[in-house]
Amino acid sequence: MRTRFAPSPTGFLHVGGARTALFCYLQSRHQQGVFILRIEDTDLERSTPESVQAILDGMEWLGLDYDEGPFYQTQRFDRYAEVVRGLLAEGKAYPCYCSKERIEALREEQMEQGLKPRYDGHCREGAEPVPGVKPVVRFRNPQDGDVVFDDLVRGPISISNTELDDLVIARPDGSPTYNFTVVVDDVDMAVSLVIRGDDHINNTPRQINIYRALGADLPDFAHVPMILGDDGARLSKRHGAVGVMQYRDDGYLPQALLNYLVRLGWSYGDQEIFSREQMIAYFDIRDVNRKAAAFNSDKLDWLNQHYMRTLPPAEVAQHLVWHFEQAGLDPDSGPPLENLVTVQADRVKTLKEMTEQSRVFYEDLEDYDEGSAKKHLRPVAEDPLRAVGNRLADLAAWEPERLNEAVRITAEELEIGMGKIAQPLRVALTGTAVSPSIDKTLWLIGRERSLERISRALAYVMNRAAAS
Ligand code: GLU
Repeated sequence: MRTRFAPSPTGFLHVGGARTALFCYLQSRHQQGVFILRIEDTDLERSTPESVQAILDGMEWLGLDYDEGPFYQTQRFDRYAEVVRGLLAEGKAYPCYCSKERIEALREEQMEQGLKPRYDGHCREGAEPVPGVKPVVRFRNPQDGDVVFDDLVRGPISISNTELDDLVIARPDGSPTYNFTVVVDDVDMAVSLVIRGDDHINNTPRQINIYRALGADLPDFAHVPMILGDDGARLSKRHGAVGVMQYRDDGYLPQALLNYLVRLGWSYGDQEIFSREQMIAYFDIRDVNRKAAAFNSDKLDWLNQHYMRTLPPAEVAQHLVWHFEQAGLDPDSGPPLENLVTVQADRVKTLKEMTEQSRVFYEDLEDYDEGSAKKHLRPVAEDPLRAVGNRLADLAAWEPERLNEAVRITAEELEIGMGKIAQPLRVALTGTAVSPSIDKTLWLIGRERSLERISRALAYVMNRAAAS
């Protein structure tokens, strides 16, 4: 079994493309087949190196490893030319000298008569070369019979050859066209299953005729439905559907996006959470729904939280490193990222948020938040802060349990509620009145930094007392 993902590098690897890539990957792994990546970059005007890179980056970030490739169509022009020559020699293709003007006039005439525009076969039975005109090459499409295939997603499809005209396979400059290169590649790469978006379904009958002309076996076809936004319109930038790397930038884990994508048009009972192994074991392209799937960002958020909480913290931490770099934070200047993950995963939706909310653990504390300081760093906080500071300084081990106990015992001794200590302490440590539980906050900030910040807050409180 051999399948391929064949993106055109004319933009980002967007959500729809990533889902197609995932389906190709899963099907190949499910059947222990081969997964090929082929970059369809023949459209020289629209293809860019940046888009190629975005595709490769997206595949890598999602962990969609391929076994062969990336192949580039632009490196195969000689091969396409060779196949065109072969078809010409066998009379399965022919040169066409019709001018643009003629084709345009024909088109207008057909439209006026309410007909579908199609080439009328003017040069099909031989045309006189026109001096100075380089011909296109057209494929000699069969004129009768039907093209029938059984799409693995859409079911049986039948198109009459009378619907199909003679497709241009090479332009005047010799460059090959899309429907032709796809077939040559799929034949040469021995692809046995073509999975692609159903926007290509009208190309398939034309391509099947080319397979036949080449004497090649047909692959199976599976056309997957498009993805809609929550408003029912085709998913676009307007829905926030941008390149997959934007999801990384926004703080999503690849595991969450993959799990999200696999459920767009495919299900397995009512299971929502799938490990990669489960996806591979359960996925079958034949089970993909033929109806369009709708994107739902809340569900993606939910999955992201799930994976932040349940993946091994060290694994989440690896992804967090990138966000620290972007935010200019040094992961080595504070608690191990694994520890941060165990504390913060429950409190945030994305890794980006986690990074933003973790500065105080890695950087010097700037000024206190005014409101919080006003409310909690008052003269009455002096004794509790001093007492808890002393007790903390005496601790042999800086562990959440010990830290929690130190705060509790201080409160008991002073006969005050925990909050009377925890809130001033929180402002002292983080500059604000919002942070993880006080023991976890202390734990993450670490001994030295915590004691230093408590001294600073004490000085602040005493100054304030002196000033009033
Ligand atoms: N290059 C085409 C695209 O990006 C896909 C062609 C195919 O998979 O056959 O839409």
